[in-house]
Order: sequence, then C-alpha cells, then structure tokens
Amino acid sequence: MREENCIFCRIANGEIPSKTLYEDEKFRVILDLGPATNGHALILPKEHYADLFELPKETAGEVMQLAQRMAGLMKDRLGCEGLNLVQNNGELAGQTVFHFHMHIIPRYPADGQKIGWKPREVSQEELEDIKNKITG
Ligand code: 5GP
Ligand code: ZN
Repeated sequence: MREENCIFCRIANGEIPSKTLYEDEKFRVILDLGPATNGHALILPKEHYADLFELPKETAGEVMQLAQRMAGLMKDRLGCEGLNLVQNNGELAGQTVFHFHMHIIPRYPADGQKIGWKPREVSQEELEDIKNKITG
C-alpha cells in the first residue's frame, strides 16, 4: 500500500523528484536533504511500512543487502573510511518520517559527526533480569 500523505511514499514512487542513487521495483535509494555527511543516503521501500515493526521479513533482508551494496559504492566512489547504518523507529527513538527508512552515513576523518549513546553502568543481576524478560 502507498499512502497519499506520506512524503517518502511520494518520493519512493517518483511523484516528488529526488537525487536517486539506485532504484528497482521495490526500493529507491536517495540522498538525504539534511545530510550528516557527504553521501548520507536513505533506503526507501516503495511500499508503505511505518517502521521496522511493520516491515515484512523478506523486505528486511533485502534492505540489509541493499545497504551493503550502497556501502561498497560509498567506499569506492567517495572514499569514506567508515560508515554508520542508522534506523530509527518511533518518535521517542528519533524517527521523524513515519515511512520505514535506513540511513547510510559514510564517515570521514574529522567529519564532525558523532553517532552514539551514553553508556550506563549495569550489574550482572540487571543484565540477567533483562535477558530473562526478553528470552524467558
Ligand atoms: P528520521 O529522523 O525519521 O530517521 O530521518 C528522516 C530523514 O529524512 C532526515 O535525515 C531528513 O533530513 C530526511 N528528509 C526529510 N524530508 C526529506 C525530503 O523531502 N527529501 C529527502 N531527500 N530527505 C528528507
Ligand atoms: Zn509512505
């Protein structure tokens, strides 16, 4: 399904122009309009899935294969020395466009970006408890 009012549905399906790096019947890969670094790209499925929770598992596998392919291109053509894959789900996690997308962020020396989190202290008991909640 495609959604009328979803900007990424419209971009992915070519109704709104974008700097497209790759396209096939299921995906479009575009340059981000507010790039963290040179080459910051987004993988967009052409079908509308709000987030990872809605993404069919075959599509999830294809997204990772496409990310790997784009990563190779970024390394060969842009000479990036590292690369982050970032994928936000839900407003709380920083998602601002509610159509699944994977960020591909090439990294360069002194690019001034920092993608990360603040590590907390945790006890073995807390880790055990969380493990049991997830797997138990
Ligand atoms: P999120 O925060 O949802 O993970 O990421 C949304 C991303 O989409 C942001 O990096 C933002 O710069 C990018 N973005 C938002 N609107 C547009 C647009 O119209 N075109 C393109 N190419 N990127 C967009
Ligand atoms: Zn959409």
